[in-house]
Amino acid sequence: MKILSLLCMACLVMLLYACQKQNIEPQDTEKKETQAPHNINYFSLPPGGEYVNFQFANGKKLSLYKSDTMYLLEGDIALTPSQVEQLKIINDGSARTFRLEFTKHWPRGVVPFTFNANLSTASRNTIQTAMNEWEILVGGLDFVPRGSQANYIEFTESTINNSPVGMIGGKQIINLIENPTVDLTSAEHEIAHSLGLFHEQSRTDRGNFININLSNIKSGKLHNFQTYAEQGIPGTQFGAFDFNSIMLYPSLITDPDFVFNTSIPTMTRLNGTTWGWNFWISAGDEETVEAIYGPPYVRLRYELISNYDNGTYWENVNDVYLEFFADQQCTQPVNLNISHDFQIRSLSYIYSQVSLRWITNGDYTYRMNLPAGSHSYYIGQNSHHENYDASYNTLSGDETQFFYQGPNQR
Ligand SMILES: [Zn+2]
Repeated sequence: MKILSLLCMACLVMLLYACQKQNIEPQDTEKKETQAPHNINYFSLPPGGEYVNFQFANGKKLSLYKSDTMYLLEGDIALTPSQVEQLKIINDGSARTFRLEFTKHWPRGVVPFTFNANLSTASRNTIQTAMNEWEILVGGLDFVPRGSQANYIEFTESTINNSPVGMIGGKQIINLIENPTVDLTSAEHEIAHSLGLFHEQSRTDRGNFININLSNIKSGKLHNFQTYAEQGIPGTQFGAFDFNSIMLYPSLITDPDFVFNTSIPTMTRLNGTTWGWNFWISAGDEETVEAIYGPPYVRLRYELISNYDNGTYWENVNDVYLEFFADQQCTQPVNLNISHDFQIRSLSYIYSQVSLRWITNGDYTYRMNLPAGSHSYYIGQNSHHENYDASYNTLSGDETQFFYQGPNQR
């Protein structure tokens, strides 16, 4: 789906990418032939939970199903208590200069995973196929069996399908129903949530493409059809509304807990026509995930412009640039061919004579949109000065460092 976190941006359709896409088309066709129509279950909720409703100070409304420590959004997106706290901060207008990102992405596109012992071999094979599909389609993604990595996905057999959104830190569980084995479409859909995607029907512009028959939806379920903006969730939409997206629910929702009449479409195109379940990853889904984990690969370049040391005072000054590349090794510079959002964090330090160490005294996040055609971006100056005594003990000084906050830093 096309709703990404703040970090994400427009996709670059590059030569390299076009080649990859051509290579996978035969496999795509084969997949369509082998995926028999079936129903998918993103709606079942774990028993014993309850709805928690938030009315935020800015007027946004969010309804989540709370079960144990998990807050379920739109049926199958599992928010953590910390993400819920962040949404409160974002929407209740607490005065914070630096705001944590609501959705985080997997650094460098590397996603460590494990299988819970409760999964059958057949289900593991299906999940492996789902990961392979994403890897083949999106060059920047790499699912790796977990070694000692702190942040990872554990695939688990469950009575419900759900996933966290983005990388939440630590172990994150993707629950999947075995019936009798895990369904490939469901695995690909839930993995997409863990990569940072929400649902297609919650786009803010969906009214230009679809009608939602609210009168057929039971009142307790209406929140499933709010836009993400109405829910107070920060996001970015990417591309046009995609009727083929694996992140789009079908027109006809047949869960009687959800709708009054299970034979009336809940969503239709503006011309009244309907669509069914989407069983495979669409070209639009691929481009969206590519926008997060694919090119451009980004590197910070520090260019030394002055360096001075007279024995008691030392200084160096660098110009810092953000540069774009077509390849992960950062050997092929490219220009952006679509505008792209970036986020840079700057930390400044000062030497404390009280604690005799460098302490942070500034933390700034800059967001910028760079137009198509940009070949690099001058971020600013990074400098470091120190005064010291004859024994090289630092007496005073300051320093600035820049960080690119995105999955493709090199
Ligand atoms: Zn979902």
